[in-house]
Amino acid sequence: MLWYTRFTEAYPKDLTELELNFSSKEACRNDLASLRWPKGFLCPACGHEESWRLAAGLFKCKVCNQKTSVISGTISEDTRKPPAS
Ligand SMILES: [Zn+2]
Repeated sequence: MLWYTRFTEAYPKDLTELELNFSSKEACRNDLASLRWPKGFLCPACGHEESWRLAAGLFKCKVCNQKTSVISGTISEDTRKPPAS
């Protein structure tokens, strides 16, 4: 077991920092989403509460397809497209 311990001792700092970095970024996005929508997603365009999660911090309303970023707010480039039914 000693060889294994020595081997891992050379790397845990990097691994731990990577994992901490990743989890803190995820936690940060989750916090942003819960700050923006304390009771869950709420579409800023139509007020609907259900959304698709496109990516971390990016949501799309299930009704009007308005994309909303937790960080930058609504993404207006999509508003010209008619909502898919
Ligand atoms: Zn909507």
